[in-house]
Amino acid sequence: MLENKTGMIFGVANQRSIAWACAQACLEKGAKLAFTYQGERLKENVEKLTANLDGALVVPCDVTNQAEVDAAFQTVEKEFGKLDFLIHSIAFAPKEALEGEFLMTSREAFVTAMEISAFSLPQLARAAAPLMKDGGSIVTMTYYGAEKVVQNYNVMGVAKSALEASVRYLAEDLGKQNIRVNAVSAGPINTLSARGVKNMGVMLRHIAEKSPLRRNVEAREVGNTTLFLVSDLASAITGETIYVDCGFNIIGI
Ligand code: NAP
Repeated sequence: MLENKTGMIFGVANQRSIAWACAQACLEKGAKLAFTYQGERLKENVEKLTANLDGALVVPCDVTNQAEVDAAFQTVEKEFGKLDFLIHSIAFAPKEALEGEFLMTSREAFVTAMEISAFSLPQLARAAAPLMKDGGSIVTMTYYGAEKVVQNYNVMGVAKSALEASVRYLAEDLGKQNIRVNAVSAGPINTLSARGVKNMGVMLRHIAEKSPLRRNVEAREVGNTTLFLVSDLASAITGETIYVDCGFNIIGI
């Protein structure tokens, strides 16, 4: 399905990361992948996880450092020659902004959350587009807190709203080059980032009780939908937010 396709994956921190589940789904279907990591702290993790993968690249890329972003894409161009898909699975907000009232969000926390969690999508799309010579697919990860109030999600919900709107604007801009841009809205999964949101356990229990499928989503399922979106099976889908949340978003009372 993805034989002869090359992809770049942002956001593998460890084996629980949604990005890692996406990578596994794509690798099973024959893709060649470049992994980026943020900072030396994560380098060892990513190198260990990818050690046995044939032809995989591992490159540093902190999205707040434009020189590092440019260098990462230069490496991918040099080694792969082209890019077919990009998976954006990164987000960050300071921990103190992910509890209490949104009202109290500091300027610094707001700007940081927006820069890393939302601006990074157009930033990376702009760098990727020239490498997507035969068209391409860009997928980002979002969450229901973008459209409804979810306690403690706060500034990250505002950043995810900006991210989802960015998906639509990018889909229009890049559609002319046959580059599709979509978001996957995943239900809560117990990852490193998710643990930064206060009362994550309460949220997981609520969804297991109330969602139509009466359970929480698994990272593997988010990976499979991402695989679909980067593949030619989704060739007419762009600008969309697709829910992978066991149906929770359709429930009213
Ligand atoms: P994760 O494993 O902690 O992945 C988040 C990644 O973002 C980490 O690799 C993190 O690196 C990276 N990151 C943070 N700041 C960065 C920067 N400046 N430059 C580059 N990378 C940076 O958590 P995850 O749950 O898989 O999150 C992946 C995506 O899915 C996020 O967009 C998240 O909002 C979204 N999502 C998660 C859930 C959920 O419940 N888990 C639900 C819906 C959507 P560091 O560890 O170094 O910060």
